Amino acid sequence: MSEFASRMARRCKPYTPGEQPRERKYIKLNTNENPYGPSPRVKEVIGRFEQSPESLRLYPDPTALSLREAIAENYQLRPEEIFVGNGSDEVLAFCFMAFADDKTPLVSLDITYSFYPVWAELMDIPYRTIPLREDLTVDTETLTGALGGNNYPVVLANPNAPTGLALTRYQIEQMVKEHPRNLFIIDEAYVDFGAESMVPLIDSYPNLLVVQTCSKSRSLASIRLGYAMGQKELIDDLNRVKNSFNSYTVSAFTQEAGRAAMEDEAYTRKCCERIASTRDRVKKELIDAGFDVTDSQSNFLWICYSGIRGEDLYEKLRQRGVLVRHFTQGKICDHIRVTVGTDEDMDVFLQEIKAIVGGSL
Ligand SMILES: *Cc1c(COP(=O)(O)O)cnc(C)c1O
Repeated sequence: MSEFASRMARRCKPYTPGEQPRERKYIKLNTNENPYGPSPRVKEVIGRFEQSPESLRLYPDPTALSLREAIAENYQLRPEEIFVGNGSDEVLAFCFMAFADDKTPLVSLDITYSFYPVWAELMDIPYRTIPLREDLTVDTETLTGALGGNNYPVVLANPNAPTGLALTRYQIEQMVKEHPRNLFIIDEAYVDFGAESMVPLIDSYPNLLVVQTCSKSRSLASIRLGYAMGQKELIDDLNRVKNSFNSYTVSAFTQEAGRAAMEDEAYTRKCCERIASTRDRVKKELIDAGFDVTDSQSNFLWICYSGIRGEDLYEKLRQRGVLVRHFTQGKICDHIRVTVGTDEDMDVFLQEIKAIVGGSL
């Protein structure tokens, strides 16, 4: 660290993203990317930019109106109810800036997306967590109990990462309804793979903000596009913060490609169904082979094998050319997170992991 580093720069503890290795070809099951390409309509957008590269000299629309119209149409909302950003990571960071501060601690779970405490630290927001139950489910009463009648905002990944488990719409609606002074930020990065979305509740609750991304179900992690959906007042708050930071967070290409993807929901649905069916098949085979596997509603499996450390599973799979994700946090260090890839990739994964646990007996 330089002697010039600010207090903010000194304080923060950066998030470590999953590896993007370049040195050899792995079967890459470590960052929850979609194994299938994006909608063919995105290719048409690339063609348009190729034909008129001079359009690149212009700044993009700072309000991303036509993209927000396409998102709104998709979710039966109004464009004023949509905020877009450079990936949902950025959208969530803006949510933290807009709705939490040193007087309003954020409440979340002890095991969840590990970027939340990183943003909290960066922005000097106190961050409180409640523990998952032994079976990794969320106890909503403990969660709302932790609010203690204060107006603290809540951030929840649903389905949760890295467990893959989801609360139902009914469970979340009860909390949102009974705690009107608390803003509930629901991170639905994985919702398209099988869980219930909270979007249909937006009309009824001014204290609900739903965040989604094009990175997973729409297979567009590279273009960096995420969005928040909620009543107009919340979206206005996000825009005030964003426009005090960077007018152009979403590139012209991303706006167009995102719109094309939004206009092809049939394709998204087909890909997600395919991934969910591979997931359920692999889950069954893992259980048959003696693994503990959560009932994931995401595009990843959260697994462990009694008597073998998560780090060893990760390392041995890596040596065999299969990359998965391992976390070092005590409570979850014996698990690995395995992204659901193509059926062929998952067959290789199954063959290798069965050989690893078989050899250890
Ligand atoms: C992947 C992920 C995100 C971030 O996605 P972006 O690529 O930044 O849109 C947000 N939340 C969770 C829980 C995720 O797993």
